[in-house]
Parts: sequence; C-alpha cells; structure tokens
Amino acid sequence: MKPSVVVSKFGGTSMGDLSAMERSAGICAEKNSFVIVVSATSGTTDKLVQVARMASSGQEEECASLVLSIKDRHKTLLNQLPKNDSAEILESYFTELDLLVQNISLLKELTPKAHDHVLSLGERMSSLIFTEVLRLKLPQKSVVLLDARTIIKTDSNFGKAMPLISEIAKACKKLDSNCVYVTQGFIGSDLEGNTTILGRGGSDYSAALFAEGVNATALEIWTDVAGVATTDPRLCPNTKIIPEISYAEAGEMAQYGAKILHPATIAPAVRKSIPVFVGSTFDKDSPGTWIRKTVDHQPAVRAITKRSHQVLLTISNPNMLNAYGFMGEIFGLFGRHRVSVDCVTTSEISIAVTVDRATLENTKFISDLESVGKIDIETDYALISLIGNDLFNRASLAKTIFTSLDEHSIRMMSLGASSYNFNFLVKEADATPSIQKLHRTLIEMIN
Ligand code: ASP
Ligand code: MG
Repeated sequence: MKPSVVVSKFGGTSMGDLSAMERSAGICAEKNSFVIVVSATSGTTDKLVQVARMASSGQEEECASLVLSIKDRHKTLLNQLPKNDSAEILESYFTELDLLVQNISLLKELTPKAHDHVLSLGERMSSLIFTEVLRLKLPQKSVVLLDARTIIKTDSNFGKAMPLISEIAKACKKLDSNCVYVTQGFIGSDLEGNTTILGRGGSDYSAALFAEGVNATALEIWTDVAGVATTDPRLCPNTKIIPEISYAEAGEMAQYGAKILHPATIAPAVRKSIPVFVGSTFDKDSPGTWIRKTVDHQPAVRAITKRSHQVLLTISNPNMLNAYGFMGEIFGLFGRHRVSVDCVTTSEISIAVTVDRATLENTKFISDLESVGKIDIETDYALISLIGNDLFNRASLAKTIFTSLDEHSIRMMSLGASSYNFNFLVKEADATPSIQKLHRTLIEMIN
C-alpha cells in the first residue's frame, strides 16, 4: 500500500490563540501530516488590508495603533511558549511591516505589489509561531518552517495571482520526506521573487496546490465547522453533515454560494484525484466530510445552497427575432468585462442572466450592454441551487420542488447544463423560507 502523504490546512480560527494552535498541532501529530498550511490568525488579514489602506490615505495614527495591535497579539502568542529562536524572526517581520507602512505613507500610494507584500505578513507570523508550537508537540521530528514563496510560484497578477503548476511541482521535489513542513497559505511569489497572493481566502487553494505538488494521498482542510453541511446552518435548523460528496457536487456547491470551500480549491485536488477531508479543529473526532472523485451514495438532492445579492439583467432587442449573433455579442461583452454569469435563460428576443450585485458598479459594462439592446435590471434576488445527482432523471422531483414552493414565486430557473444542479431565482425575502421547506422535503424526509 502507498504510504500516506497528508497535507493539512488550518484556517484562521484554528490559529486564533494558543489553545487553538495546540489543538491544531495535536491533529498534525495524530494525522502524521507532512505539509501543514496555515492561515493568518483570525482577523489579521482584514487588519493588514486596513493598515495598507490607512497608510496610503494618511491616517497615520489609526494605522499605527492597528499595527501595534497586530504586533501585540503575535508577540503575546510567542511569549507564551518557552524561549525560542523565532522571537528574533518575529521582530524582523515587525520591522518589515514598519518599513512597508513608512514607504506607503511616504508615497501616499498603495501599489498592488506593496499590498500583497503587506498581506503576506499575516501568514508569515502565524506560521512562525505555529512551527514552535508543533516543535513542542513533535520533539522527535524535524519540523521545518517553509517559506511558501519558494514553492508556490505564480504569475505577477498581484492581488489574485495564478499559480504556475509545473514550477510548483518542480519546487515540491526539493522537500524531504523525513521532515514535517509548516508553511503559509495564500501567498506565493512571481518569477522575479516578488511576493504575491492568490486572492482572499486563498489558503485552501494553496493547500490543494501543495497536495498536488507532493502527490498527497489526502488533503485535510481543518476549519471551525464539522464538515460540509446540507445547507447553511444559519438558514435552517435541521442541517446535517454530509459524510461523503463527489468533487462535481462540491464544486457546484462552492460555485453557488456554500462558504466552506474556495471554488478553486477543488481544481488541483481533482487533477490528481486526491480525496479532500473537511473537519473541525474543535471537534476533531467527528466524522467530517470526505470529498472524492466517486462516492457510492448518490441521492437526488444532497445539498441546498443560497447565493445572495443577485441581480437579474434582461437584455432584449426585437431585432433578435430570427436573427443570429446576438448571444455572441452579449457574451463577448461579459468576457471582455470579466463578468461571470451564473444562470442564463433565453427567449426569441431576450436573454436573461443573473450576476452578482457588485456588477452594477461597472457602469461601462452596463452602458456597453445598452448598445446591444434594452436592459431591465431587477435587484434583491437570491439564487437557490439544489445540488445532487442525476437530476435529469428524477421523475417526481419537479413536482416536489414546486409543491414545496407553492407560496413563493420563482422568477427564473435553470436545469439542463449539468445533471448536478437545479437553480432558481427567488426574491431575497423568500429565500430562507424556501430553503427550509425544500430542505425538509428533499433532504430531511428522504436521506
Ligand atoms: N488569510 C487570508 C485571508 O484571510 C487567506 C485565508 O485565510 O485563506 O484571506
Ligand atoms: Mg479562510
């Protein structure tokens, strides 16, 4: 049997304080993790975002007090441990932060490059401290602090850099299987050595890239929830943890609003068919959720997701009747403005698409669309998605759905592109009651 190679990722709450770090270290010891990817301590990345912004806008005092609170928190964490060499490294990170802040304030300009560099400090501080915590837990092992920037090579698209897969694979070959590595989520570096980030919440993605690079046998995402739930527990009282789910279903869930996985997380794991585990650091013995290529149990509806802040754009042009090329023109505009479409329906002379509300701020995009046809904009919608299997062939499913929703109106729906999801758009105010009813009839009463 192939020896196990485990990549484990711990989110910000699992790094939140010393006891959370100790719990996380215990899990690494128990699971025999090879590479451990950590997020910044909870809330730190948000603070660093503010620090960078305040430095560039001349809010010196507020900026300084925020910097101080970040330093205090990390110094206090490290001081709770027996004396170690990391104190000096931590000081050097503080100096780096001070220099960055000075430069940004001096120039009154926050470049994307400087922004990524500032944000990298959150993960660098937490991983430094966590390395010490893990060394105490695994005194017999060689626990190495690995700079993710030497492995996660990316392009230079600061703020949301694209990983360079073959460079990452090459760099991973340098890792020694006798060591245990602690490294940072969400950061990388471009080919010139500049620090980059993969985008907010990108630590899961980093972990999946490491898993792909080291040919892991499992990728474990440790967070503060006990696995992937059948729907958002804040919306519905009777959610259950899903024991097993396929990549395809999990990908749809992420795409349509489930908060637990970064949509791109799944891609590197899927490429190598690596099973992904999602579990809670605070409840490590609960079964959690396994996400695999194939799963035995394939219910019609496994989960229900909600995506809020949806806007329905309807573009109509009577000249579309019996004509061709309009769709191409419209989707060309979406492509050029990098606007992602979630749901589409068409009629003879119009096309309706859902987009995130933030798209409306792109006034150039809207005016370009107006050159193609008349636009109607309807706001305050939520997209509900039923995620499951073989949805085309479930004879009474539509009846159950419409019966459950008979008090609410459905503005738009889509089924047909994928057999894993059925989407419909309802008024935001109707979304939660609709999800509760659907959850009862399609999940609680069946699975
Ligand atoms: N710390 C980063 C963020 O908050 C990355 C992550 O936690 O996934 O966005
Ligand atoms: Mg996170």
